Amino acid sequence: MSETSTLVFDIEKFAVHDGPGIRTVVFLKGCPLRCLWCHNPESQSFEQETMAGVNGGPPETVGKAMTVEEVMASVRKDKPFYDSSDGGLTISGGEPLAHFDFTLALLAAAKAEGIHTAVETSGFAPRERIEALLPLVDLWLWDVKAPPAIHKKLIGVEAAPILDNLAFIAARGAAIVLRCPLVPGVNDSDDALAHIVNLAKNTPGVRKIDIEPYHPMGEGKSRRLGRTGYFTAPFATDADKARWREAIFGPDGCE
Ligand code: SF4
Repeated sequence: MSETSTLVFDIEKFAVHDGPGIRTVVFLKGCPLRCLWCHNPESQSFEQETMAGVNGGPPETVGKAMTVEEVMASVRKDKPFYDSSDGGLTISGGEPLAHFDFTLALLAAAKAEGIHTAVETSGFAPRERIEALLPLVDLWLWDVKAPPAIHKKLIGVEAAPILDNLAFIAARGAAIVLRCPLVPGVNDSDDALAHIVNLAKNTPGVRKIDIEPYHPMGEGKSRRLGRTGYFTAPFATDADKARWREAIFGPDGCE
């Protein structure tokens, strides 16, 4: 077993929204992107951080160095639940591909134990990393954050390398779920919604599109980290959600 380690900021058990079935989601700390609306600001830095306590409570240390074996010890405990629900392990972040050695080793360990694997990613990573992980990833949860014209302004990097990587895995038969965070008035223009539809239509292997309405949960955490100027947008209304669903899934709104 590999002794590779990295900073983990959460391990969520019995998760049901990050891939099929019942899953354990391992959140790695550190991400090269800076999405305007990041709902996990504590996941961005590659360093351990201290967050002020909630309502005057004790401060919280964010990020714990863990080895692959330590994470696997937690993951394998729930194998019976994975087996009975077609679930498994999801690696999220932060950005898992920025923790390449750890992600590679953890995926290999999970696969060796017959555990289904998913990786939630922005897709922003060198091609060699994506290629090396391909045989170990059963499902890619691939973020579609914004159309190319406004991608850099909102996310901090251009869309082109991400879209190239998506085309690369699609051409190799990868199973893909497109995850679309939608922020009212920010990345939900008709053009932006059409971008999602076109991408789904032209990318073989897309099994599903997840619409993820913006929520301002990151604001409080950002404040607790001592940061200022956190971006906030209005909550998505029912009308926003209905418009998104109709534009993406058609008039009956079915996924
Ligand atoms: S890719 Fe995810 S973790 Fe990284 S900044 Fe964007 S929302 Fe936050």
